[in-house]
Amino acid sequence: MKTLYLLGATGSIGRQTLDIVRQNPTEFKIGSLTANHRIDDLIALIDEFHPAYVSVGDMSDAKLLQKQFPTLHVGWGEDGLIQAATYQPNDPNGLLVNALVGIVGLLPTVRAIEIKRTIALANKETLVVAGDIINELLRIHGVELYPIDSEHSAIWQCLRGEDHKTISKLIITASGGSFRDYVRSHLESVTVEEALSHPNWSMGDKITIDSATMMNKGFEVIEAHHLFHLPPEAIETVIHRESIIHSMVEFTDHSIIAQLSDHDMHLPISYALFYPQRRENQVQSLNWTKLKQLTFSDVSFTRYPCLGYAYDALKRGGNAPAILNAANEAAVDLFLKRKISFLEIETIVGQAIQNNPWIDKPTLDELLKTDQTVKAAIYEHYLTRR
Ligand code: NAD
Ligand code: MG
Repeated sequence: MKTLYLLGATGSIGRQTLDIVRQNPTEFKIGSLTANHRIDDLIALIDEFHPAYVSVGDMSDAKLLQKQFPTLHVGWGEDGLIQAATYQPNDPNGLLVNALVGIVGLLPTVRAIEIKRTIALANKETLVVAGDIINELLRIHGVELYPIDSEHSAIWQCLRGEDHKTISKLIITASGGSFRDYVRSHLESVTVEEALSHPNWSMGDKITIDSATMMNKGFEVIEAHHLFHLPPEAIETVIHRESIIHSMVEFTDHSIIAQLSDHDMHLPISYALFYPQRRENQVQSLNWTKLKQLTFSDVSFTRYPCLGYAYDALKRGGNAPAILNAANEAAVDLFLKRKISFLEIETIVGQAIQNNPWIDKPTLDELLKTDQTVKAAIYEHYLTRR
């Protein structure tokens, strides 16, 4: 039986992870759960899954929870996330499922690797910001990290049993996001509601906006580099509207292996939770006669500048991806709060990359400092402008 330490239990990935736990009650128990502000949802999960530790965003909510559950260990804030990730540090069957959104997921991942806990990672900002440091820590501590993202799970599955030296390229597919049928001039006046209606996937707000700008695909290119150790030139992206092929690997003999399934995150989550086994799950079987067609088209960096910024940041290395991520987190937050327009997201990201000092081989502290400095400057400018 595995013990799951689940960060972000109330989010899209967190809830789908718990669906799998519900369907496999003899396989998993819950060591810890975290939520930011959805306290009622968390209370229902405590009653259902009986975790030993929970953490919430604010101290006041933590106090309320402690009153309601006197024997439960309760924490809050960033320290609470780290406690949740490393709870029961000697548990040999522990698995951290990091389903947080944003750079707040970085330190809990680092601390869990340091106690040699296996990681199932949905939080993409961790690898985007600090992929080199994470890889070094995984090596030093001998820890495994499994991706929970449809594209990286697909590549991981395609590579099973293959000699990595024979990979010639990775081909990451992209749905194109909410505005894939819009020309750039139509993007000027799009609303938050329009941006949040993704054609294929139902996900958290931030990643849905990242899909509309294609920053999400840029992040996935950076993650793929760190997960599969290929240079940026060997990682391609292609628009595939149907989201049926989740990614592909081309080998030196020009054979291409692809992974296909219905678009349902229960599959990549289940693959990471049960790895190296495959298990029955709730995902719909593909109906070939209904599929009709699978289409592919080029991704233009002019149409989607954020994807170009991400490739550039990966090539530059150092703290460039941290600048990219910080500017994007702040810009998406401002857009969701209706303080800026959709197209200002990419303007903000482009300017941040130009305006912030580059650091070669940054430490973890320097990456966190970069994150704070970049965000502070953006909030200062865009929250005080008239
Ligand atoms: P979400 O917004 O639905 O959920 C995020 C979770 O993190 C929530 O439980 C929330 O309470 C918690 N959280 C957010 N900010 C916090 C903070 N400051 N402190 C503590 N907790 C905080 O997000 P999601 O769609 O589930 O995505 C989670 C991660 O997985 C993201 O990095 C995303 O890019 C990645 N991902 C998601 C999907 C998907 O289908 N949803 C697919 C691939 C990758
Ligand atoms: Mg993805």
